[in-house]
Formats: sequence, C-alpha cells, structure tokens
Amino acid sequence: MIKNIKLQKLHSKGFSHILIVVAIVVGVGVAGAYSLVASHADSSRKNQRLAQKILEQANNGHIDFVSATGNAKFDQADAQYGSTPRDNLRSAADGRQSNTTRNCDGRGGYAGSLTDTYIDGRILLFIYRLSKEKNIAVTSIVGQCHDSSTSTHYKGNAVDLACRDAKGNDVMSRSILKAANDIGKKVGVKHNGENCKNAGHYHFSIHGE
Ligand SMILES: [Zn+2]
Repeated sequence: MIKNIKLQKLHSKGFSHILIVVAIVVGVGVAGAYSLVASHADSSRKNQRLAQKILEQANNGHIDFVSATGNAKFDQADAQYGSTPRDNLRSAADGRQSNTTRNCDGRGGYAGSLTDTYIDGRILLFIYRLSKEKNIAVTSIVGQCHDSSTSTHYKGNAVDLACRDAKGNDVMSRSILKAANDIGKKVGVKHNGENCKNAGHYHFSIHGE
C-alpha cells in the first residue's frame, strides 16, 4: 500500500515535469511563431526606410495614388481620417501605425475592426520593388472600404493596384501584372481573385488572402 502511494507520487511528479517541459516547448513554439508573424509588421528602421523610399518613388513619378471611389466626398473623408495610401506611407515612414478609414457609410464595404496598424514589411518591399521596375498606381493600402471588417488591408497585409488613373486611362497592363507576380513570389505577396473586371483593381496580399 505504502509502496503504491510512493509510486503514485513519483508518477505524478514525473507527469508534472513532463507537463512543464511540454508547456515550455509549446510556449517557445508559440512565441517563435508569433515573432515570425509579427516581425514583418512593425516600426523597424527597415520598414521606415522602405516607406520613405516608396514616397520618393511617388515623388519621382513612378507611383500614382488614385482614388478608390472617384468620389470627392469619400476622398475628403479618407484625408480627414489620414487613411489615403500616401498618408499610410507617411505614417510608416515615421515609424507609426497607419490609419484605417473609420466610416464607410454610403460607399459600401465595411470599416476595419482596427483603427490603425503597421504595414507589413513584405507589402512595403513589394510596392517598392515593383515601382522600380514599372510605373504603378495604388488605390489602397490600409485605408478605404473593403468587403469585410477583417479585410487583409486592415491588418496591413494588402495593397490594391489601380486599373485606371483619375483621368480614366488604363494604368494596369500584362507586363505590370507579370512583374507584380514575379516580385510577389520572391517577397511572399500574392494576387488573389480580384482584378480589373470583377473589382476594378488588383488585390495583392500576404499569401493571397
Ligand atoms: Zn484589396
């Protein structure tokens, strides 16, 4: 009987040690996975520099920022929220989180569940590299209104490339799309199903979500 109790105690001690080891391993694993996810969307100097370089590319005429709606009222609201693509990039260049558009009344879509977020470094790298190869037009990064309150845009994980500029000229081509897909493959950014025909823009995001 005494032996049994001792054995049980030993067993439970051994089991609790195993539990602690398992807890540590799981904890480290989760922390590692989290840091992998979180390491791209942050205020690191690398991301700040990328955002600054993208703004320079825009100033040099390689990136045009185009209204997602073509509606002055909504554009003013975006400016008020500081959620235009240019605003988003200025925030990122300053090491700050970028603003979402807080109110989507009247324009369709859903406002983001987050008020602001860091732009993922892979999205910044994608925009920068693509703009070095092709002249592009961008309608949305973190801001504007998208089809879900949990849209990848609101997590800083997406960018929309415009099909037409403010004058209605085509600004998307097969060669731009090919360059975007090639660069996307290298940096972890992918086109999803949205294109000029079904959405009026090309949506590129982390893993194509
Ligand atoms: Zn999109």
